[in-house]
Amino acid sequence: MQLAQRLESIAESITLAVTARANALKKQGVDVVSFGAGEPDFDTPLPVKEAAIKALLAGKTKYEPTAGTPEARKAISEKLNRFNRLDYKPEEIIVSVGGKHSLYVSFMAVLNPGDEVIIPAPYWVSYPDMVKLAGGVPVVVNGDPANNFKISAAQLARAVTPRTKMVIINSPSNPGGHTYQPAELAALAAAVAPHKNVWVCSDEIYERLLYAGQQSCSWAALDFALWKDRTITCNCLSKTYAMTGWRIGYTAGPRALIDAMNKLQGQMTSNITSFCMPAIVEALTNPAMETEIQTMRDAFEKRGTRMWQLLNQIPGVKCNRPTGAFYAFPSIAGLLGKPLGKTGAIAKDAVEFSRLVLDEVHVALVPGNDFGCPDHVRLSFATGMENIEKGIGRLAQFCQAG
Ligand code: PMP
Ligand code: GLU
Repeated sequence: MQLAQRLESIAESITLAVTARANALKKQGVDVVSFGAGEPDFDTPLPVKEAAIKALLAGKTKYEPTAGTPEARKAISEKLNRFNRLDYKPEEIIVSVGGKHSLYVSFMAVLNPGDEVIIPAPYWVSYPDMVKLAGGVPVVVNGDPANNFKISAAQLARAVTPRTKMVIINSPSNPGGHTYQPAELAALAAAVAPHKNVWVCSDEIYERLLYAGQQSCSWAALDFALWKDRTITCNCLSKTYAMTGWRIGYTAGPRALIDAMNKLQGQMTSNITSFCMPAIVEALTNPAMETEIQTMRDAFEKRGTRMWQLLNQIPGVKCNRPTGAFYAFPSIAGLLGKPLGKTGAIAKDAVEFSRLVLDEVHVALVPGNDFGCPDHVRLSFATGMENIEKGIGRLAQFCQAG
């Protein structure tokens, strides 16, 4: 069978693969503790569900405008204004099938073959592959582990070439768990500003998940007049409102970009599920949602702090304190090449390490290889405290048994 060449340089999504493997083992009756996919273990808030049910029962089951209903785009515009200090009009917004689709459609709308895209590492697994699918060339800039994996303005300035078309900024970050503070973002912005043809794609999907007194900041809000025409602001409802399965993402940007994305999406998926549109309005306008968000955030902060403490108690493991999103991203460099577990097996990188851990103590970790860090693993702490104690306990046992 002959399939398209474009798939040859693309890998399977490791985050989804690990989760599928853990779920398959659970189905077989294995007691797996999964730190795999990053998705809140909370349920979607009831008023949001009710808005969709009401719309469904009222017959909202037909095609809608590709970019979203006027009501949904207005609610997003007002949210961006209120929360992010961004003055995007409804027609400068497009709703897509999850954050992933928002990013992908925007890359497809902006990149030409050979365009370079600067991606700070560790990076979310899908960025390089999405860039390649859109014809672009990923250019990885390694963050400094000693500075919570953040890149510096000097590094960014050095990475820009005449072929650079885009820089991806993800703060708070998956998988690094770090958050660029406004002054740090401003320094990065100063490095990109002189290069007028360079877009910045700001993936802000974890904006409400901030810990240890960190502040979130939208890239375009640094100076909206300067950045609006060159910023792709991506967001979704998946993490903030525990709505991963709903598949609701949105992009805000200059009108020409949004029109281009609309054209592309109109030949691809059309609108997102029609009766989910009122759920967007409910999530973004019901004041009771603030309490829901705070409750989830508070729980994540407690769990993240506990996970970070427990991980650092394991000899050979070194973990930065997560300041955003819901991931711990420890280094396991001190354990590679050494006998591990009951069998004394040796792992040369995080893929092998994660496989051994899953096989022997049934704990699912995501290897850092596809995040650009083969001596790190990612653990999601969007799971109960009991799981955290149990899973890290097993991991500690595995690491010390060798
Ligand atoms: N960006 C980042 C940084 C992510 O971690 C994810 C994974 N959820 C996405 C985008 C995609 O979000 P969604 O699930 O809404 O497609
Ligand atoms: N983004 C989440 C993660 O990194 C969900 C899985 C995915 O879409 O990659 O685990």
